Amino acid sequence: MEREFDIAIIGAGPAGLTAAITAKSLKPGARVALVEKLERAGKKLSASGNGRGNLSNRECDSLPQVLKFFSESGIAVKADEAGRLYPYSEEAKAVTSALVKRAENEGVILLTDTKVKDVEACSKDGFRIFVCDKGGEYVMRADKVAVTTGGKSFSSYGCTGDGYAIARSLGHKVVPPVPALTAIEVTKPLKSLKGVRTKALVSLFGDGKLIFEERGEVQFREDSLSGICIMNMSSHLPVADRADMADRCGNSKLKSCRIMINFVPEFLPEDLMRFLREKSRVKGISAGDLLETLLKKPVAAMILDEAGVSPDLDAAELSMSDLIAIVSATGAFTLVPCGRKGWKEAQVTKGGVALEEIDLTTMESKVRAGLYFAGEVIDYDGPCGGYNLHNAWLTGLKAGAAMVSGGK
Ligand SMILES: Cc1cc2nc3c(=O)[nH]c(=O)nc-3n(C[C@H](O)[C@H](O)[C@H](O)COP(=O)(O)OP(=O)(O)OC[C@H]3O[C@@H](n4cnc5c(N)ncnc54)[C@H](O)[C@@H]3O)c2cc1C
Repeated sequence: MEREFDIAIIGAGPAGLTAAITAKSLKPGARVALVEKLERAGKKLSASGNGRGNLSNRECDSLPQVLKFFSESGIAVKADEAGRLYPYSEEAKAVTSALVKRAENEGVILLTDTKVKDVEACSKDGFRIFVCDKGGEYVMRADKVAVTTGGKSFSSYGCTGDGYAIARSLGHKVVPPVPALTAIEVTKPLKSLKGVRTKALVSLFGDGKLIFEERGEVQFREDSLSGICIMNMSSHLPVADRADMADRCGNSKLKSCRIMINFVPEFLPEDLMRFLREKSRVKGISAGDLLETLLKKPVAAMILDEAGVSPDLDAAELSMSDLIAIVSATGAFTLVPCGRKGWKEAQVTKGGVALEEIDLTTMESKVRAGLYFAGEVIDYDGPCGGYNLHNAWLTGLKAGAAMVSGGK
């Protein structure tokens, strides 16, 4: 026998929870099912922001709407000096718990350990949803369906791209998903810098044009760079032309890209040159001592190596071209990106259900009436700082409200 619902929401992450709570609180009589394949809701939300949950950002659009939802759900928030919003307790798990309790208290039917395998549009209206739980397979029927299955990163949190297959089967275009907000692999081995963290200005160039620039902490690994500024940069790396290469490393478009690291962004090149020339006159200074107090030791050693200057040379004997090479390697240390770290590390997915086929005021499909999308499953990816969770709350609010107001 088919289980009947007015609304079925697939995926109990922040977008699904928000959509379900909103729909049920606006229309208490509606039968709303929230289907989650894992044993509990909101696993990724609970782990977000290193467990602290960077929920949103003061810079985000429509923040008052999201803050109102937090307040109605009993979630206390605070902003840090950079405008990032966190739960007051800095415990993301508590946010998940508050939302699950609210959903259950509103009367949402939360079906955990239940995977949606397929969704089929009925010939007249409504949808048949093919699910599988511990008891086996069965079919649900719902007038409206929201796909809130998230992206493809961190599969242990339930995100394996199921929503893309559902969207495609219902006639939607999906922009090929690519790992984003992730570490960037580079061609140069960085073994000597492994574990070093240093502040810098990082820039990404493609075919000689500046694509992205941000100041922040760069974290070095043997084969890659990480840190928030690098993760934000990863979203701007060109995507391969071939769809089947889109989520792979080694995309040939990266060959024309360069990452430039300025380790001393506060210095103009001429000021750095003046500093180095003055310091080289100090008695007994070696080339290896020149960058001491300016750069961390392993970074200084790498810069000298890049400039082709032996650290044992007497600094006073360095030529003008040696000094120019050091200034240039310090202010514009250049690396060639060769890939993104994959789905295991990516915090979000770039790509997803194409936005032009969604009415962004209601999140309803323009292809099929009664079908909605919210959260990371759509082709949106924001930078670090709360923008991705904000997208989940906001699109969840829109879809939840539209599903009970009739949509189109
Ligand atoms: C480690 C980490 C830290 C992060 N930290 C932050 C942060 O601090 N701030 C920020 O803004 N963003 C952060 N993000 C990104 C943010 O967590 C996601 O963008 C957000 O969770 C997306 O919400 P969602 O509801 O769309 O999807 P998800 O949170 O991914 O939830 C989707 C749910 O759908 C379920 N599901 C999938 N397929 C099916 C199916 N077939 N049947 C039933 N259920 C299904 C999944 O199990 C999952 O529970 C982080 C991401 C990661 C990985």
